[in-house]
Amino acid sequence: EHDRLMRSKYEGLDRYEFLEKLGDGAFSDVYKARDKETQTLVAVKIVRKHELNANQRANVLKEVQIMRGLRHPAILQLISFSESKDYYHLVLEYVEGGELFHQIVKLTYFSEDLTRHVVVQVAEGIRYLHQSVGVVHRDIKPENILFHSIPFIPDPQELIEIQKQPHHPDEDPKEPEGVFTKGIGGGEIGRIKIADFGLSKVIWDTTTQTPCGTVGYTAPEIVRDEDYSKSVDMWALGCVLYTCLCGFPPFYDESVEHLTQKVAKGEFEFLSPWWDDVSAGAKDLVSRLLCIDPLKRMTVDEVFEHPWIRQAGPESPTSS
Ligand code: ADP
Ligand code: MG
Repeated sequence: EHDRLMRSKYEGLDRYEFLEKLGDGAFSDVYKARDKETQTLVAVKIVRKHELNANQRANVLKEVQIMRGLRHPAILQLISFSESKDYYHLVLEYVEGGELFHQIVKLTYFSEDLTRHVVVQVAEGIRYLHQSVGVVHRDIKPENILFHSIPFIPDPQELIEIQKQPHHPDEDPKEPEGVFTKGIGGGEIGRIKIADFGLSKVIWDTTTQTPCGTVGYTAPEIVRDEDYSKSVDMWALGCVLYTCLCGFPPFYDESVEHLTQKVAKGEFEFLSPWWDDVSAGAKDLVSRLLCIDPLKRMTVDEVFEHPWIRQAGPESPTSS
């Protein structure tokens, strides 16, 4: 039985040489692999069918169906899909920068410029999903946002060394912010990809460019439902923004029950001392995204209009 499963696991994937494991989830493992023909690196997500019920299997196929239609620089690309008797195989574009989550843990928190650089890209990905393909992701979080590459981020130890370096009396001491953000925006450096469409959902008919249903005859609750659905991603973007800026999530509690209550009330704080030096603009954007009323919550278009987002960062050509 074990041998049969092992054969089935890699069945049809002969063209790939399997390297290390990149992640493991409840129903799937993700491996780094190399295409033997082209030498291209890929990530293969292998989903164990026998642990899924019929509904969950249908969801995997839906994830694949949705991902097939996506093409955007901020969205992880699906290369191919296949299945064997016991497994689904999703071959994905490989990115080497790791999870946003790990980078936050490593750096403690991000500078405002690096945060903006990340959040703008996630928002661009969300705008593409919401407006061009009519899909809500529904699982935006630092574990599902992957860095393309990370050469601009030094070790925390390296940072301490940099801060300790003596500087010329006429020269400003080196700020860690300058180190974090150095070089971002150029080429692929600091680029991110949204991954994991396992919970995503189609809300917009892409062929007719209307809500799923007929224009003019669509009931208000359906139109409203779509706005509610999209606002789910905006809330999550607010959580990502908050987490990047201070290094911990806006809502946290050891007990799931208490956590649920906090989220339901939308209770979060700009805890001192962590938030003391964060700009008013960044806090304003957090508050408008972590707004409990989904209809008052910022839409993705409004995010791009927000002064803190529009503010010239180091990636902007006007800032030099
Ligand atoms: P799950 O449903 O188990 O959360 P994900 O698609 O989120 O599956 O993948 C799990 C983890 O595997 C990710 O959080 C990431 O660390 C890693 N991973 C997934 N896809 C890639 C990829 N294309 N390149 C590099 N790492 C990846
Ligand atoms: Mg995931």
